Amino acid sequence: MKRRYMKSITILGLILLLAFIFLNDDIGGVFKAKFLNVISIVSPKDLDSVNSYEMDLKLDDTNRILSGSESVTYYNRSGKAMEDIYFHVYPNAFNKNETVPVMFNDASYAYPNGFNPCYIEILNIKVEGKEINYSIRGSDSTTLKLELNKSIKKDEHVQILIDFELKIPEARDRIGYFDGSYLFGNWYPIAAVYDNTGWNLDPFYDIGDPFYSDSADYQVRITLPDKYIVAATGNIISDKVNKGNRIVSIDVKSVRDFTWTASSNYKIFNSEVDGINISCYFMNSNSERITKAISTVENTIKIFNEQFGKYPYSSYSIVETHFPTGMEYPGLSFIPNSYFNGSKSILGLEGVIVHETAHQWWYGIVGNNQIDEAWLDEGLATYSKVIYFEKTYGHSFGKDYYEKNIHSIYENKRKSIKGKEILLKPLNEFDGWREYDTLAYKKGAVLFQEVRNEVGDEKFFDILKKYYNNNKFKNVNTQDFINTVEAATNRKWEAFFEKWLLGK
Ligand SMILES: [Zn+2]
Repeated sequence: MKRRYMKSITILGLILLLAFIFLNDDIGGVFKAKFLNVISIVSPKDLDSVNSYEMDLKLDDTNRILSGSESVTYYNRSGKAMEDIYFHVYPNAFNKNETVPVMFNDASYAYPNGFNPCYIEILNIKVEGKEINYSIRGSDSTTLKLELNKSIKKDEHVQILIDFELKIPEARDRIGYFDGSYLFGNWYPIAAVYDNTGWNLDPFYDIGDPFYSDSADYQVRITLPDKYIVAATGNIISDKVNKGNRIVSIDVKSVRDFTWTASSNYKIFNSEVDGINISCYFMNSNSERITKAISTVENTIKIFNEQFGKYPYSSYSIVETHFPTGMEYPGLSFIPNSYFNGSKSILGLEGVIVHETAHQWWYGIVGNNQIDEAWLDEGLATYSKVIYFEKTYGHSFGKDYYEKNIHSIYENKRKSIKGKEILLKPLNEFDGWREYDTLAYKKGAVLFQEVRNEVGDEKFFDILKKYYNNNKFKNVNTQDFINTVEAATNRKWEAFFEKWLLGK
């Protein structure tokens, strides 16, 4: 991480940053001397001026190309004049066989019929109606730099138009077509986050969920062959068929990404919980699994609404996919088909739905940098399963679930970790998926159990509610969570968090 900042900030900037760190006692706390990267993230964004995206998309099903026209109202919230704006174009990471960051590094699963590239071609970019210079950058070509003709003053906004074509691979990954179904995760030019560290321009690492974004509003229109049913982040406000085409319009506010899927195989089941429309999209599942999945989604939303605070959007969907693991995106979670065809246990199906749905609160609504501090949302989503199981099946079931599925796995796997068990480090510093799972998920969840053991149930749930309510739609960091714990308990927690986050 240090390396990255050294590249992107000037010496003067570094001096100012150090002065800021050591003069400001309110931030940093435990970490200021140890992790420069951690202290400097995020002041919550001004939510009155979130970016907005209007997209018009056309799917060429024969050539597997998605043509997109994206109009972005971009707000300069950097606190100073801005000369350049950066976007991520993540599909480019999937362009070369040698470096493709497919899930679990398993290319044979991702490409059952052989590697084929995914990339985004930028056709045209205009800012305020005028052409500008732009370039594709970064080690994996996932950074798009827009050089503005005229700088944007702080708090002002500009209109950016990007025309692009996305080449969709035949693949079972975040973006791809396979066996009648399309997935579009991390697929369009999305504005990079500018926070107190400057621009966040990490490549698409081959571990974890290597992206970080701000909440924004979206209005999207998708035109595709009428045999495809669409599932998406947000509210589908119209779905019309005309001369062989389907035109779907979607609208949503304050979400940190927009994801969609389309399939000719979906069966949809709709219901409603606490005024939220629930849609479940299945492919070839058996009815026992479908029934279990629907009741789990409904029950999870109900429990987390009570335990954390109300889900603020009017729709939530789960989608059966070929992606090899559960994956959260705002308002829409991917649930792998292995959980629906009986190759995984029914408790596993319940667990994966609960975990991804918990991410709607931890990642979706309360955001964090998933590259630098993945433990914060992964640990809490993992621990949220314990909360779900104890509220659903009773305390002893929850306790038992925690011991068997989290604590004992952590104790067992940690034996293979060399050196300190550092939870708070960026994705590219984890020694592979096993260490990442052991630390970010399991040790992360154990940390939350340990907090609960220290403060008792009442205060623990009070902490989670405050952490949620005070940080909705923002990006927060580890220090914000520690501050919430310290405010609720009226004491310092330095030693505790140092032990759990930085090694043991
Ligand atoms: Zn997760």
